[in-house]
Amino acid sequence: MTKQDVIQQAKEANVQFIRLWFTDVLGTLKSFAITADELEDAMDGGMGFDGSSITGYQDIEESDMIAMPDPSTFKVIPWSPQEEPTARMICDVRTPDGDPYVGDPRHILRRALERANEMGFDNFYCGPELEFFYFKDSKGTEPLDYGGYFDLTTLDAATALRRETVQALQQLGIKVEYSHHEVGISQHEIDLRFDDAMTMADKVMTYKTVVKEVATRHGVYATFMPKPLIDQNGSGMHTHQSLFANGKNSFFDADAEYYLSDEAKAFIAGQLRHARELSIIFAQHVNSYKRLVPGYEAPVYIAWSRRNRSALVRVPLYHPGEEKATRMELRCPDPAANIYLCFAALLHAGLEGIEKGYELPEPMERNLYNLSAEERQKMGIESLPADLGEAIKEAENSELLHKALGEHTYSRLLQLKREEFEDYRIQVTPYEIEKFLPVL
Ligand code: GLN
Ligand code: MG
Ligand code: MG
Ligand code: MG
Repeated sequence: MTKQDVIQQAKEANVQFIRLWFTDVLGTLKSFAITADELEDAMDGGMGFDGSSITGYQDIEESDMIAMPDPSTFKVIPWSPQEEPTARMICDVRTPDGDPYVGDPRHILRRALERANEMGFDNFYCGPELEFFYFKDSKGTEPLDYGGYFDLTTLDAATALRRETVQALQQLGIKVEYSHHEVGISQHEIDLRFDDAMTMADKVMTYKTVVKEVATRHGVYATFMPKPLIDQNGSGMHTHQSLFANGKNSFFDADAEYYLSDEAKAFIAGQLRHARELSIIFAQHVNSYKRLVPGYEAPVYIAWSRRNRSALVRVPLYHPGEEKATRMELRCPDPAANIYLCFAALLHAGLEGIEKGYELPEPMERNLYNLSAEERQKMGIESLPADLGEAIKEAENSELLHKALGEHTYSRLLQLKREEFEDYRIQVTPYEIEKFLPVL
């Protein structure tokens, strides 16, 4: 879509306002609105804003930033008032000189994609599966339904909510592949059809907004918090991935074991080897680590498998030997991750494996939750970080993370995460009061 197409479409739809979207370092969606009259100017020179108030952006001394709308992302927002149709555009963040801003997560993903291009790959395809919970409101965790995996919970509120969400996504040009009840009570999943990483990251930002928006309109609350309920599965964002070169899936080899090319194997090896140090991106909050525990279909141990959902990486067996379907699934990311940084980190880790020729260990088909610590040690199976503190330590020693994020975002993210962990560490929790007060 060109600038002229956008202007024409805006006119035809009688668009009154355009919301300009970008994200902060933690992946929070930021937005400001311009009137339709400003649209042309905005696309020519961008719109200024104060970067010092955006988490992880600039210090107060050099805080002028430009939001540059990407014409290909123009979409009329289906839930905007009919008398005042509103559109949204996703922006690249620039400095006043017009250079890409180093703290812009979209720029960080673009740099990762450039690295893939330089290595001969044209497309990095991602298919994230975002899970989420519906609760009565944001103050507690009262569920809307008590369904389980694939339950057809007829006549309950969640079914209607999910249907309306899928319809809104489709109106926004976002193709949905599956939607279903998840394992947890009141937990749901809507899966988008895979797309190239940048388009998909933009879609994910939209998806999260749509899920929450539709819930709000029905007077309930939707959350992407990784582990809101102690005795239920948490919400993951398993991410299916493949690399294409010249229109062909580079992960596919018809003659190879598991139909996985050498490149696919090295790519998977890269993600396994670097999983610990990139955990701060995939599982960025203190709460994320409560999801990554045995027994809830979330990964804990660093291994790969064909069948076993306790492994960190799974190579799905749905259509074995089919070129287009050949892919890997990484299971540690959760839906609270910054999607741009998440895809960038995934890609860098995989490319590192290809560039350095990492070897893929043998698959582990056993349920890893059942292995004893000694067995794991004998087999050389490591664990993901147990908490954010451990993830921070790994990140502090990571050259790859530094390279992926660039100095600016690397140091700001670490600083934010240290603050988060310290704040959390000094809490006195209801658990402690209940457990220790009566006996000490
Ligand atoms: N909710 C699980 C997780 O935390 C996944 C469950 C599933 O998709 N079957 O990753
Ligand atoms: Mg799924
Ligand atoms: Mg799922
Ligand atoms: Mg999955």
